[in-house]
Amino acid sequence: MRERPIEELGIVGCGGAGFPTHVKLAARNIDFLIVNGAECEPLLHKDKELLKHHTADFLKGLRAALDLTQAKQGLIGVKKKYGTLLDHLGKAIDDPRIKLLPLGDFYPAGDEYELVYEASGRLIPFGGIPLNIGCVVSNVETLLLLGRGQPMITKSLTVTGKVPHPLTVEVPVGITMREALSLAGLRDLAGLTVIDGGPMMGRLVDDVDRQVVTKTCGGLIALPSDHPLTRRMGRPQKDNSRIARSACDQCTDCTELCPRALLGYPIKPHKAMRTAQLAAFNDQNYSVESVFCSECGLCSLFSCPEDLPPREMAMAAKKAHLARGVKLTDWQGAPAVHPMRPARRVSIDRLLKKIGLLDYDRKAPLTPVELRVERVRLPLKMHIGAPSLPLVKPGDRVQAGQKIGAIPEKKLGATLHASISGRVSDVSADAITIVRE
Ligand code: SF4
Ligand code: SF4
Repeated sequence: MRERPIEELGIVGCGGAGFPTHVKLAARNIDFLIVNGAECEPLLHKDKELLKHHTADFLKGLRAALDLTQAKQGLIGVKKKYGTLLDHLGKAIDDPRIKLLPLGDFYPAGDEYELVYEASGRLIPFGGIPLNIGCVVSNVETLLLLGRGQPMITKSLTVTGKVPHPLTVEVPVGITMREALSLAGLRDLAGLTVIDGGPMMGRLVDDVDRQVVTKTCGGLIALPSDHPLTRRMGRPQKDNSRIARSACDQCTDCTELCPRALLGYPIKPHKAMRTAQLAAFNDQNYSVESVFCSECGLCSLFSCPEDLPPREMAMAAKKAHLARGVKLTDWQGAPAVHPMRPARRVSIDRLLKKIGLLDYDRKAPLTPVELRVERVRLPLKMHIGAPSLPLVKPGDRVQAGQKIGAIPEKKLGATLHASISGRVSDVSADAITIVRE
């Protein structure tokens, strides 16, 4: 069905990590190819909008992925609350290998470990990947791009928050975040702070004129700079450490509600807090199980009754232990689901209320936009692996869709394509810039 091999399309996982798709789909004879349409980050609507409006291309991509991986079954994970979308997909599915996987409205339903368990009843082994238990997980947009069979030169994202018209748009990769925000009617950013990604796992944007929409950007959320969430996200780590040392009473609520702990992984964020109080993170005896933290943020933003930063302390401990060579495969045995998991999962409604985003929970329909892009800046690394090798030099004329970056030999990586036609104005160590002529 495709004229070019997948690695020549430059498609990467669009759900956050940016794993090169041609490598993921090199798996063979798997049991389940699971589509991650859970979109559990509050306020984001990209995946369900794409499933609704680009159903045929998405299903074409899913069938191609099933053929490639020789998967026995393809499962499309979508939340039960989107009943109309599930009906729509149910009518469109024309392949007996493909089934719907209705999901509960919990955070983080889209976490790979959670999704694999819900889909297959299997748990990823300590230090393993879904493939170890016969599963491959792929994102909605990734499969849609595969179905189109074209180079990845656009990115779909939701632009929402304190904006005049929340929407989901498809834009050329490499436009500035300011340009993307303007599509939602936001021109004046005074008093606002922008999050790249979702409110739970996203990052604050430093410079909307410098930072660009990459292949992994799924959403931009503008919130008041004095909103508790943005203030919390902007808190320096030294302040988090000081707070962690001062106030934790070791109630263990953070551990009891931790999604990874409820699946049976040995993570204990309250121990990371204790470590912050008592020891250095690289002390091999302390909170070493923090390496299992997914960084989902539930403990810091929802579970802790004192608004303390267990996620940030678990992340610091994880970084220190991984740096000294701890591996997740060091653990013996297998995870076992906690019997209280069904009762302790956190619904999106409760989460929205706790993090103060109920007022921003608005629809963001997929909207065609006219955007004359004068310049794009294409980072050489928008994926897991080695940066792409530039194939162009300043002054070269390029066409939209032309390959301008290659995968380094024998390395994990992704090809890069011009997202607009124009002239290459700059090739630096980290990006290629193209200006329209
Ligand atoms: S960080 Fe918060 S939830 Fe966790 S043990 Fe300390 S006080 Fe309890
Ligand atoms: S961020 Fe907190 S809740 Fe999430 S996995 Fe890590 S320790 Fe658990």
